[in-house]
Amino acid sequence: MKKILLIYISSMILILIVSYILTFKDKNMTTIKLPKSIKVYYNEENIIKETDFEEYLKCVVSAEVPAEFNKEAIKAQAVAARTYIYNKYLKFNEDPNTAPIEHKDAIVCTNSKHCCAYYSKEKLEKIHGKEWMDKYYSKICKCVEETKGEIVTYENQPIIAVFHASSGGCRTENSEDVWSSNLPYLTSVESPEEDKRTGYYTEVLVTCNEFKNKINEKYPDANLGDDRNTWINGIKYTTGKSVQYIMIGNAEIKGTEIRALFGLKSACFEVSILNDNVLFKVSGSGHGVGLSQHGANIMANKGKDYKEILKWYYKGTEIVK
Ligand SMILES: [Zn+2]
Repeated sequence: MKKILLIYISSMILILIVSYILTFKDKNMTTIKLPKSIKVYYNEENIIKETDFEEYLKCVVSAEVPAEFNKEAIKAQAVAARTYIYNKYLKFNEDPNTAPIEHKDAIVCTNSKHCCAYYSKEKLEKIHGKEWMDKYYSKICKCVEETKGEIVTYENQPIIAVFHASSGGCRTENSEDVWSSNLPYLTSVESPEEDKRTGYYTEVLVTCNEFKNKINEKYPDANLGDDRNTWINGIKYTTGKSVQYIMIGNAEIKGTEIRALFGLKSACFEVSILNDNVLFKVSGSGHGVGLSQHGANIMANKGKDYKEILKWYYKGTEIVK
């Protein structure tokens, strides 16, 4: 009996050791190997080209942030975009069906709706001229080259490094408040943006008729009638100070859905009814999750370097090469 017990205990210990080793190995041995080139679908030209990874990245960074930005903010953007693209590359290799159908068999495309914004070198020269290229395109190239091969990881895995133009509520959003997944490194943090009436502030005015028709058509439960005083019935905010839910008539509608329905720059808005119009006062631009490009620039101007900026917006992460 004693012998059986001993064998049982030692086999349990062995199982524990093996599973620990396997977990440990899995977590720490992920090799990060950036591809030399990547298949890009160029939407405007309707062609797929195998493109040098770092050269493609330079064109992404050129389109994502103003070249006049502080160099450290551009470097932060370069590392974030590299990580974001690398993640798409990994997902595509795992299952090519995860890519949008219009990609054909390319990993990324030049449409910012599902991939990154993109300006070719030729397009940039056409827009800005040679002098600008000498001063600013070379600055962007330097930012990409100085961070070559660097990506952001969380527990040794490359993160989904999402970014946006500006956080309206002076805080970024929790990923689960905007999308369904709760990612620990995409948690709401303070973002040093200006007062909401400056910076990325926009207004959208729609007629009461248009508002009523659009809402009733998409959300029949709202059941908006002629009495405008009964239209807006309370707002619930996210940690990042955007609209999480708004009660319109009898329907509880997500802030992100109102953003899409009325083409607002962000879900960080106030709404009021003025005479025959509905006025949206919108702060910030983009989904509000992860790195704020505008906030990164303000941080850089205050002396933070790109690694400090990235670690601020992506909590608990490391920058690895
Ligand atoms: Zn795409």
